[in-house]
Amino acid sequence: MNNMDKAILNAFPLVAVPTSEPLPGHTQCGTRYLVGKAGLMREITLPWIRLVHPVATCDADITLPYGPMESSVEMWCSEVPAELIRQFTADARQALPNEIAAALIWNSTIDVWRYEIRRSLRATPGYVSFEEVRLEDDEHLVVDIHSHGSARAFFSSTDDQDDFGSMKFSVVLGNLDKPTPSSAIRLCVAGRYFPASINELGVLGVVL
Ligand SMILES: [Zn+2]
Repeated sequence: MNNMDKAILNAFPLVAVPTSEPLPGHTQCGTRYLVGKAGLMREITLPWIRLVHPVATCDADITLPYGPMESSVEMWCSEVPAELIRQFTADARQALPNEIAAALIWNSTIDVWRYEIRRSLRATPGYVSFEEVRLEDDEHLVVDIHSHGSARAFFSSTDDQDDFGSMKFSVVLGNLDKPTPSSAIRLCVAGRYFPASINELGVLGVVL
C-alpha cells in the first residue's frame, strides 16, 4: 500500500465488526469507520463522548458478512453545573439588546467545568462575532452557547455555517427579555447535527 493510503487508513481506520466477540475498543481519540451487517457506521471518540451512527445502509436485500452494529452514544463528561447556565442567562440579559457568546469548558483530567464569556468583537441584536477562548491542556469546549437577544432561539443559517465541521453541543438562548427564555440545543458532529437535550440536572442527552 502506498504511503498516502497508509496515512489515510491510519488516521481513519476501517474495521470489520466481529460476529461473535465484542468490537475492540478504539484506543485513541478520533474517527473509525465500522463495517457491520447492515452497512457502514462512523464511530467518533473524543475525551467527552463516544458516538456511533450510520453513514450508509445496505439495500434491504443485501446483508454483509459482518457482525451487527447499533447506533449508540456514551457521554463521558459529568453534568453541566446549573450555575454555568444561570451565569450565561444573566450575561445574555446584561448584553441585551445584543447577542453574546460563551463557552462551557470541561477539563477531562480533573472533571471540572468552567465558564468563559467570549469577548465580543462586534455585536448587534442579530449577530455576534467574538474572540475565541483559549483552552488549557485537557480542556475541551463541550458546549458552545450564544444568545439571540430578544428574538427566539433557533439555529440560523449563520449558526449552521459557524457549527459546520465542529464537534460540540451548540446551544442558543432566546427571548431573554422575557422571564422564561426559549432555548435550542443540538450535537454537532463533523458535519452532522443530532437533536440533543440538557435536563435540569445538567445531564446532556442525544437523540440518534
Ligand atoms: Zn444563532
